[in-house]
Amino acid sequence: MVSASVETRLFINGEFRPSSNNETFDLFSARSGSLFAQVHEASKEDVDDAVAAAKAAFPAWAQLSPRARGRYLVRLADLIAESNAELARLEAESMGRPVSTYFDATMGSDYFRYFSEAAYPQGSSSLNTPGFVNVTVKQPVGVVAAIIPWNAPLVFFCKKLAPALAAGNTVVLKSSEKAPLTSLYVANLAKEAGFPPGVLNVLSGHGPISGAALASHMDVRALTFTGSVRTGKLLRKMAADSNMKNLILELGGKSPAIVFDDCNIDAAVQHTQFSIQLLSGQNCMANSRIYVQSSIMESFVEKFKAAFTSARLGDPADPNVNHGPQADKIQHATVLQYINLGKETGKLVTEEQSAPGLFINPTIFRDVPEDAKIMKEEIFGPVVVINSFDTEEEAIKKANDSEYGLYASVFTKDLDRAMRVATRLESGTVGVNCSGPTKGDDMAFGGQKGSGLQRESYLHSMETFMETKSVMIKVDGL
Ligand code: NAD
Repeated sequence: MVSASVETRLFINGEFRPSSNNETFDLFSARSGSLFAQVHEASKEDVDDAVAAAKAAFPAWAQLSPRARGRYLVRLADLIAESNAELARLEAESMGRPVSTYFDATMGSDYFRYFSEAAYPQGSSSLNTPGFVNVTVKQPVGVVAAIIPWNAPLVFFCKKLAPALAAGNTVVLKSSEKAPLTSLYVANLAKEAGFPPGVLNVLSGHGPISGAALASHMDVRALTFTGSVRTGKLLRKMAADSNMKNLILELGGKSPAIVFDDCNIDAAVQHTQFSIQLLSGQNCMANSRIYVQSSIMESFVEKFKAAFTSARLGDPADPNVNHGPQADKIQHATVLQYINLGKETGKLVTEEQSAPGLFINPTIFRDVPEDAKIMKEEIFGPVVVINSFDTEEEAIKKANDSEYGLYASVFTKDLDRAMRVATRLESGTVGVNCSGPTKGDDMAFGGQKGSGLQRESYLHSMETFMETKSVMIKVDGL
C-alpha cells in the first residue's frame, strides 16, 4: 500500500478532506497488480462544495494583476520541477509509466513558468464606427472545470490549469480514477506555494459521478477536457443541456503516417516506431496507421520490426526499462481484444509471444483492409498496422478515411510533395519528417473532425478561458 504521506483525500477550498460520504475507490498498482491506495471518491456534494469555493475565490483572484497571480504560478512551477522523482514514482505505480520516459514534471512546470509571465491578455480598439471609440476587453470566464485522462496526468493538469489560472479564473480539476495521485500531490504543492483557498481545487473519482456533476454544473463557465471521443460526446451534451459552458475538447486519434520512397527510411522508422512505442502505445498522437510506398514496403517493415521489438519491457521503476505495462486490467484486455480481431483480418508480422502481467509485446500487422475495425478504432496500445500504397492520391485518401483528425505525418525529401500532402491531410497537426508526439510549445494543438474542439498551446490556451467583450463608447463631437 501507498505510504501514509501520499495524499488520497480531496482538495477543496485550500484543505484536504475526506469525501462527504466517506467513500473510497481502490487503486491497483500497474507494476505489481496489488492494491496500492484507497482514494477518496468525490460525491456530487463534494463537487458542489468545490465549485462554490472556486466561485467565492474568483472575484479576488481575477482582480489581482497578472504579475501578482504569476508569483503563485512560478512558485508552483519550481515545486513541481523539484518533485520530479516522486511524481515519476507515483505514475510508475498507478499507470505503469516507465520512470526513464518521465518528462512530465519538466513539461508541466514549464507551463506554469511560461504563464506566470505571459498572461497579459489584450483586447483591440476600433474607430470604424463613426462617432465612437470602441474597444474590446478580455475577461476571465469565472469557474473553469478541468477533466483529465490517465496517460500523462501531470502534463494535462499543468497544460489546463496554468493558462486558466493565469487568465484570472478559478479552477476545479477532476483527475482520472486510474491515476489520481499526482494531481493530489500537486494540490499539496499549490498549498505550499500559498495559493488562496478555493482558487485551485482537486477532486478524484469516477466520470459518471463527479465528472458528470462538473460538466452539468450551472456555476461552471468553461469545461476543458482531454480524453476519449466517447466521453467528449457525452460532455458536449451535458454542457449544452446545462448552461452552454465554453468547451475545449482534446480527444482521441488514429493517426496516419505516410512514408514515401524518397525519404530517409532509417529516420522514418525511428520516428514512427517511437510514436507508437512511447507509453506502450497509450499516446493520443501515436501513429497507429502507417502507409508505406510499395517500392520500400519490405525493407521498411523489416527495419520497423527490428526497432519496435527492441523495446525494453520490464518494471517501470527500473531506469533501464522504456516499455511498461498497460495502465490497468481493462486497458490490457481491450488491447488484447483488438489484437485478436487483427489476426482475423490482417497478417501478423511479429511473433506471437505471451507477455506477463499487464504487458503487451510490440505488435505489428500488415495488409489490413481499410475498413477493418483495427483501422478505424483507437486501440491505445503498442499495436500498429503497416499498409502499402502506390500513389500520392491513394495515400491521402486512405489517411483521411477516418473520423479522427489529431495528428498526421508525411515522410519525404520532396518539399513540394510534403506541402501538398500536409495541406490536404485532415488533421490538427501535421508532422513533416517527424511524428507525434513532436509538437511546438507555441503551435496550436488540437483535433479536426472527431478529435476535438478548440486549440491549446502557449499562445492559444488562454484565449479559450476568456470572454471577449465589446465596449461601445459614444464620443460627442467625434
Ligand atoms: P476517458 O474519456 O475514459 O476518461 C477521461 C476522463 O473523463 C477521466 O477523468 C474520466 O473519469 C472522465 N469521464 C469518463 N466518463 C465520464 C462521464 N460520463 N462524465 C464525465 N467525465 C467522465 O479517457 P481515458 O481513457 O482516461 O484517456 C484516453 C483517451 O484520451 C484516449 O482516447 C486518448 O486518445 C485521449 N487523449 C487525448 C489527448 C489529446 O490531447 N487530444 C491527450 C491524451 C489522451
